[in-house]
Amino acid sequence: MVLADHQIEGVSVIYAKCCMPIHGDPITAHSDTERGIVVHHSRCQQVAPFKQSDSRYLETNWGGDKVNKTYAAHLKIIAENKIGILADVISTFTKRGINIIAVNTKDLDVKFTECNFEIDIDNVEELRKIMQKVRSMKFVESCKRIINDAKTVNEN
Ligand SMILES: [Zn+2]
Repeated sequence: MVLADHQIEGVSVIYAKCCMPIHGDPITAHSDTERGIVVHHSRCQQVAPFKQSDSRYLETNWGGDKVNKTYAAHLKIIAENKIGILADVISTFTKRGINIIAVNTKDLDVKFTECNFEIDIDNVEELRKIMQKVRSMKFVESCKRIINDAKTVNEN
């Protein structure tokens, strides 16, 4: 099956909130009787254990979007707890025309703070570039994408 313009065979899909797949990711479509077709990242815990044996989970490929589309992605950024760091990270996104859908922060300890961002992004290549940019920022310790896989499932 091919996913393009947020549709598979003419049917609009829903992107799973647990893993937030974006264009270019390996993806698995789950045919859900209540919600229709839900697209997950193939490494997501919600699909990875079932996709080999259950016919309701289908490996899907990305087609070319005809219209300029964006996708929501979840990033977790750990930064030193400095005044203005959140504003600096936000400005790194907005300077590149990346829309921020949601952000929340929590202090991990006296030194570090965790910022969870939901951003609009075109595809995995754009995401890779912006993550590199964020990682290169002063006071940023790490910038990871959250896709609900085995490594990150307990970090929400
Ligand atoms: Zn998922």
